[in-house]
Amino acid sequence: MNNTFEEILEKIRDYDQIIILRHQSPDPDALGSQCGLREILWANFPEKKIYATGFDEPTLAYLTAMDRFEGDASECLVIVCDTANRPRIDGKIWQKADCLIKIDHHPNDDNYGDLIYVDDSASSVSEIICDFALSLHLTIPDSGARLLYAGIIGDTGRFLYPNTSAKTLYFASELAKFDFDRAVLGREMSSFDMKTARLQAYIYENMVISANGAACVTLTQDLLKSMDLRDSETSSAVGTPGNIQEVKAWAIFVEQPDGHYRVRMRSKTIPINGIAKRHDGGGHLLASGANAYSYEELEEIWKELEEAVSAKK
Ligand code: AMP
Repeated sequence: MNNTFEEILEKIRDYDQIIILRHQSPDPDALGSQCGLREILWANFPEKKIYATGFDEPTLAYLTAMDRFEGDASECLVIVCDTANRPRIDGKIWQKADCLIKIDHHPNDDNYGDLIYVDDSASSVSEIICDFALSLHLTIPDSGARLLYAGIIGDTGRFLYPNTSAKTLYFASELAKFDFDRAVLGREMSSFDMKTARLQAYIYENMVISANGAACVTLTQDLLKSMDLRDSETSSAVGTPGNIQEVKAWAIFVEQPDGHYRVRMRSKTIPINGIAKRHDGGGHLLASGANAYSYEELEEIWKELEEAVSAKK
């Protein structure tokens, strides 16, 4: 059962210091919701100390920057955005929080927090934060609107994915009324450097597509090193196999320095989060992540993906 926006605002009013967190390996919605909320709270509660903390992801530095918090969190309210389960929260500071709030749009598999607001029909947590601010008549500064808009276009693939609802478009149109350059932001988010272009070329050249439309490709550490790519830089190529008409669902196996594989799965219509859950992961119906701890497990995941696609034929 969700808490209400009013209850969340009441808690925010109760605390002088608030720390906002999000998941590891942040994407535009993680940063957009986390820092969009920070900008809104800064604008509405100038007397409070509000921090957004976590790893400063260099590929998203055009969006915003993280704050440093070095004090004692035991008197703080901690709000976690866009993070389904506790192990994926970036930072441990939430463990000491006086009060913890979860705001998310993933299926609520880990019901953590003293207050919870989860809406898995929302395209993004940025959409939820926009709803929160507009329905409570909070001031949204232009910088906050830009971040929330970035989060929405990030998680909807610029309104292309099926998670784009009438509500999503309504909130995007409300955010478009603010003063920020949407064209520049869109370009910053959709353009990529030559390294990423070469990675996409590698994926097109090397991915395997089964007869029924499952696809996979493996990116080894050797390959990433030879292309001078970090794990986080693979995110801009995760959608690449989906550009092929025949591909219905796909997995990108990214070898990690310790030898295990981070598995990034996507699908056009067939749910794949069950596969992710069976392999130390989770996520959305059509966008999930998992881990394969051996080559055999990688093959099992590939087999399960092929079966899921065949079952829907
Ligand atoms: P990614 O491929 O890392 O961009 O992840 C796609 C989606 O799956 C995101 O919504 C993540 O929150 C989720 N996800 C990725 N890895 C994991 C994991 N190890 N456990 C749970 N959810 C995950």
